[in-house]
Amino acid sequence: MTEDRFETLAIHAGQEPDPTTGAAVVPIYATSTYVQEAPGVHKGYEYSRTDNPTRTALQIQLAALEGVDAGSGGGCVATSSGLAATALIGYLLKPGDHIVLPDDAYGGTFRLVAQVLSLHGIEWSVGDLTSAEGIAGALRPKTKLVWVETPTNPVLRIVDLDLVVAAARSVGAMVVVDNTFATPYLQQPLAHGADMVVHSSTKYLGGHSDTVGGAIITNNEELHQRLRYLQNATGPIPGPFDSYLVLRGVKTLGVRMDRHCENATAIAAFLEGDPRVNHVWYPGLASHPGHEVALDQMFGFGGMLSFTPTGGVDAANDIVTRTRLFFLAESLGGVESLIELPAVMTHASVAGTELEVPPSLVRLSVGIEHVDDLISDLDRALG
Ligand SMILES: *Cc1c(COP(=O)(O)O)cnc(C)c1O
Repeated sequence: MTEDRFETLAIHAGQEPDPTTGAAVVPIYATSTYVQEAPGVHKGYEYSRTDNPTRTALQIQLAALEGVDAGSGGGCVATSSGLAATALIGYLLKPGDHIVLPDDAYGGTFRLVAQVLSLHGIEWSVGDLTSAEGIAGALRPKTKLVWVETPTNPVLRIVDLDLVVAAARSVGAMVVVDNTFATPYLQQPLAHGADMVVHSSTKYLGGHSDTVGGAIITNNEELHQRLRYLQNATGPIPGPFDSYLVLRGVKTLGVRMDRHCENATAIAAFLEGDPRVNHVWYPGLASHPGHEVALDQMFGFGGMLSFTPTGGVDAANDIVTRTRLFFLAESLGGVESLIELPAVMTHASVAGTELEVPPSLVRLSVGIEHVDDLISDLDRALG
């Protein structure tokens, strides 16, 4: 089949013309309920917590992009946020089960496991998943789930997916990969043997900073049905309008990611060569410790990068308030460039824990504006 290439699936998977009107774009089905011909006789939809056609289209599209065909088992569950997806996965566990978290997990994931799931008897610990010794040291006989992020936030550490999957298998644990930073365009965790992929579709999938959403994709039919059951039982669904926004965003994911990667690569080179900058973290740089693994398992290095200015915290504060094109804001993955200070913004809640970040670290979400304008903006802000 030639019709199953990424860019084509993004625009066609789950997106047949509307059967009643011929509408070329999947409609926003703003309905909570569906009329039945006779009790129990219907077209597959009964109530929108269970299923809604706009959400179904999005789920087929996202599953296809992570390499899961409709009909081959498995699929996608789209959720109301990335953390709602993580919480659903938490419901798969029972008291006494153990989770391994990366030692630089997304702060919200860390909070959910350490402050909420722990109250329900779920055990957890953190480990350095970037080395074979770190992975082996983190696994326990009761480990049921290994949570992986790669690249991580905010220093873009790279985890070798083949290595972590093999180690988790040896103790019978499942591997979940948070693929938010890479997107399926740059990384395909299920092809490396991961059991589930999680997304905050708020970020690159939606791509326009105008919606909050999440998703879980698996190629295991039993897991998929269990997640569908748990979602229907607990209720964290995206509405039809939010489903539509992500569905629309994903159509251009490939072209956007190409530009995010191109712009971030140019900015990383500019910053690395500038005397006002102390250190740059970007997996595309040969100086990055994860560069070789990233070359191997990714199709591009993404749009996120971090750096520390030579002037320390004061310089970092000046830079983030001086840029004009880079908006000072949390979140990431939109078409517009963002700049932030993780230590006091996205990562403020992890101060004093294993996840603490250097106070002068500046994080960029590089957008798809003209790269020369972005570099001038940073050049001026560096002072
Ligand atoms: C934003 C984010 C999440 C959480 O997603 P929400 O949509 O904000 O709930 C999880 N993981 C990563 C890597 C993120 O960047």
